[in-house]
Formats: sequence, structure tokens, C-alpha cells
Amino acid sequence: MNTLRIIILLSLALPLSAASWKAGTAKADITPNTPIWMAGYGGRTKPSEGALHPLWAKALALEDAKDNRAVIVSTDTLGITASIYNNLKVRLAKEYKLQPAQIMLNASHTHTGPVLRGWLYDIYPLNAAHIKRIEEYSVRLENEIVRMTGEALKNLEPVTLKHGIGITRFGVNRRENKQYDVPKLIAAQALKGPIDHDVPVLAVYKGLELKAVVFGYACHSTTLGIQKFSGDYSGFTQIALEKSHPGALALFSAGCGADINPLPRREVHLAERYGLMLAAAVEETLLQKMQHLEPKLATRIKTIPLEYGALPEPAALAAAAKNQTNYRGRWAARMLKLQADDDIPKTYPYPIQCWRIGDLLWLTMGGEVVVDFSLNFKKKHGPRTWVSSYCNDVMAYIPTFRVLREGRYEGQSSMAVYGLPADRWKENVEDLVTEGVNQLVRVTK
Ligand SMILES: [Zn+2]
Repeated sequence: MNTLRIIILLSLALPLSAASWKAGTAKADITPNTPIWMAGYGGRTKPSEGALHPLWAKALALEDAKDNRAVIVSTDTLGITASIYNNLKVRLAKEYKLQPAQIMLNASHTHTGPVLRGWLYDIYPLNAAHIKRIEEYSVRLENEIVRMTGEALKNLEPVTLKHGIGITRFGVNRRENKQYDVPKLIAAQALKGPIDHDVPVLAVYKGLELKAVVFGYACHSTTLGIQKFSGDYSGFTQIALEKSHPGALALFSAGCGADINPLPRREVHLAERYGLMLAAAVEETLLQKMQHLEPKLATRIKTIPLEYGALPEPAALAAAAKNQTNYRGRWAARMLKLQADDDIPKTYPYPIQCWRIGDLLWLTMGGEVVVDFSLNFKKKHGPRTWVSSYCNDVMAYIPTFRVLREGRYEGQSSMAVYGLPADRWKENVEDLVTEGVNQLVRVTK
């Protein structure tokens, strides 16, 4: 038998799947069926009034050549809450033997999505019926995520994975540029402040056909503040990509855009414009020479006890609690009671996660992370690093030391909006997060 024939016979004997990735997908329409309070803006005075387009939850399950598995879930929500995350960790372990490291729950951070269980209750005048509806919807969301994860794992099939990075420029640093000056600043090419305009793309191909695409962007989903549900700009991107690639699933993973806004904003046509710009950046990336990713997967997760800064003085809380028609008053009244009961934790269990997909390093962080973190991590760990924010548990803003010291919304006043007991994290927040992530990168092989 000649050598060529031996090689041909050997290659025929090897099953195709032995050396390849497998992927499976599933999706669920998660648009609320009844009016429900909407998350994101404390100024809202009433529940939702219909939908601009459906809200989606989507799942992409991956399995490497050694049967290691992971599931990426995207949701058109402001953020997955701790209550929902904790329930899902238990249920996904029980149903599918998935450990927390293997689960990545992304929230698009749309500000035209529903309030979810256990968070933002202080900022709206909610009654018992409103809360019941929020809790029922949250159960539905959990059930859909469990069901879809099972479906995605069940339909795993051989695929190839590729990674590339595109660019689009609509994200503006909102701390450094006044909203109403932005058109003038754009015209003068005079926008200021750090930004991250990368569009990371993970493409999943079945043969030559696009099966799924995960894409990221570091910018708040705050184009719209209307009373209708929508996925904001990334909702329009998902619609555009799924229309131009029939049968493919498009999933959004928000980046570190806590201090970045889509500006100008507030009009539906602007959300659609930014959505189409992001879709074009993804399409252009798919046409680039993308990096082929070897079928090798590693997943790690850990929680860092992030320390709260000094608690507000009881006298200040008592003064604020006198007016409970605003969120600060309702929050202060609740904090007074917690302080009196000595029921305030000193730390918050903050989740950080590290995946290696071939030579792609994917870092995920909970909360609303400011842009300095993604710029710093990409500088340290190289260009094939993807940094996602709003992952697994969205409990607060995560400022760098600079933003914390400057204060304002992202460094200070957002803490009470989220219902946390202190007005700031402790000054070591950036150091704890940075060291935690770098340590996780070192051990994820
Ligand atoms: Zn936000």
C-alpha cells in the first residue's frame, strides 16, 4: 500500500467531529405580554405601552474537540439581576451539568426593556401589583433561558470558529462631551475623552454558511427613552444581520461602555442608524481575513469581594427619607432600616470571568464597566482580547480610580439608583478588579 493511500484511508477513518468545534443555537421571544415598568431611567412615570420590535434572548452553545462546553446567552435586557443569575446557576447545573464558569449571560443594557426581579425597586413608585408582574416576568425569563440552553446543547453540530475586529465610531465619551454640544463637536472633529470603537466579532460557520455571529461594542444602549420595548441600537443590528444572513443567529455582547453614549440620540431613526452602522462593521469584519480559532476551550470564573466606601450618616439618611416621592428618599428610608437592623454587608460578590476560545481571550465583567478597563486589558493582554461588560450580574457601575475620584453619576450617585448601601465603592475598586482579572487570565489555560 503506498503512502498516499494510507493517508487517505486514515483521514477517512477519523470522524469529522474529532478535531472540530461543535455549536448549537436557540432563541426565545422575551417581549413582555402586558404593561410592565421599564428599566433604565428614573424619570419614568408609568409602565410600558407596547413594543417597537420584539425583545430576544438567544443562546449559542459551544463544544471543543475534548468535549469542553460553554454557553453564551444574549438578552435584550438592562442587566441580569443577582436574583436571576443565582437561580440560573442552580438550574443550569442541575439540568445540564453546566458550572458557572461555562455560562456567560450577556445583557444588551437596553433602556427600553423591563425591570427585573430584585433591583431598581427604589427608583419607581411601584405597588404590590407592579412588583408581582415584574416577578412573574422574571420567572418567564429564567424558564426561557433554561429551555433555550437545553435546546442549543441538544443541537450541537460540527462548525468552524473565526475571530476578527471591526470598527464603528458612533460611541461618544459622555463625561467629556456635553450631549447638546456633540453635533458641533463632531463637525469640528473635537470630541474628547477615552473611547473604544472596536467591534469584536466571533463568527460560527457550518461549512460556508454563517450559523451564528456574536458581536460587541462599548456603548450604552441609551439611544431611546420611549415607552415601547426595543433592543435599542443593538436590537436593530441583530435584525439587520439576521435579515442579511437567513437562518443565522446574531447575539450582542455589550462592551465597557458605562461612560459612553450613542450621541446624538432620542430618535428612533438614530437607534436604527447606529444599529445599521454596527451591522455594517460586523459585515465588513466577516469579509476580512479572520483568525481561525482552534477547537480548544477553557473557562474560569471567580467573584471578588468588592468593598463599599463609607456608609451615609443616619442623620443625612433621615433628612432624605422625609421626601419619599423621589427615589433618593425611598432608598434612604430603606437604608435607615437596614442600618438600624445592622443588616448591611461590607462587600459585594463581583463576578469576573475568563474564557479562552482557541487563541481568543474573552474577559467578562459584571456591572457597568467604564471604558478605561477595556483599553487597559487590551493593552496588557494583546489585540486578541475581547472585554465584555454587563455580564452575569449587573449590580452597579464599576469605575476606575480616576472616575471614582471625579465622582458624578458613574463614580458616585449611580450607587443609590442601584439600591446599594454606600454612595461609592472603596478607593481600591480598580486595583481589586484589575488584579482579579489578571490573576484569572494567568490560571485560565
Ligand atoms: Zn447604564
